[in-house]
Amino acid sequence: MQIVYNILITVVSFVAMEGVAWLAHKYLMHGWLWGLHEDHHHKEHYGFLEHNDAFFLIFATPGITCLAIGIYTPVTFLLYIGLGITLYGFCYFFVHDIFIHQRIKWLRNTKNPYLLGIRRAHKMHHKHLGKHDGECFGMLWVPRKYFKKQEAAS
Ligand SMILES: [Zn+2]
Ligand SMILES: [Zn+2]
Ligand SMILES: [Zn+2]
Repeated sequence: MQIVYNILITVVSFVAMEGVAWLAHKYLMHGWLWGLHEDHHHKEHYGFLEHNDAFFLIFATPGITCLAIGIYTPVTFLLYIGLGITLYGFCYFFVHDIFIHQRIKWLRNTKNPYLLGIRRAHKMHHKHLGKHDGECFGMLWVPRKYFKKQEAAS
C-alpha cells in the first residue's frame, strides 16, 4: 500500500501547486516582485531570456530541496512532495512557455478544447498590462467561462 500512499502525496502536491502558483502570481509577481514579471506583460516577443525567467529558479528551489531531503534523509515522504512540485513545474513550463507563448513552435494549431481553454484564459491575463488589475492568475485550472466563450465563438 506504500506505493498508493506515495502516488497520493505526489498528486496532492501537484494539485496544491496550482493554488500556490495562483497565489504567487497574484500576490508576489503582481505584488512586490512585479519588477521581474512586468516585461512578461509588455513584451510581444521573447528574446531568449526575460526577467520573468527568474521565477523558474525561485520556484524550482523548494522542489529540488524536497527531493534532496527525501532522497538523503529518512524523511522519504518529502521525495514525493518534491516530485509533485517538480512535475507541476515542468507542466507549467510546457503549457505556459512552450504552448501558450510558443518559445518553441509546437502545438500551435491544436484543436484540443482543454489546451484552447488554457490559452484563451492566459491571453486574457496578458490583456491587462498593469500591476493591480488582472484575471486568470492560475494556469492548469481554467474557469468554465473560457470554454463557453470558445463554444460561442465557433
Ligand atoms: Zn501576470
Ligand atoms: Zn526584462
Ligand atoms: Zn504569460
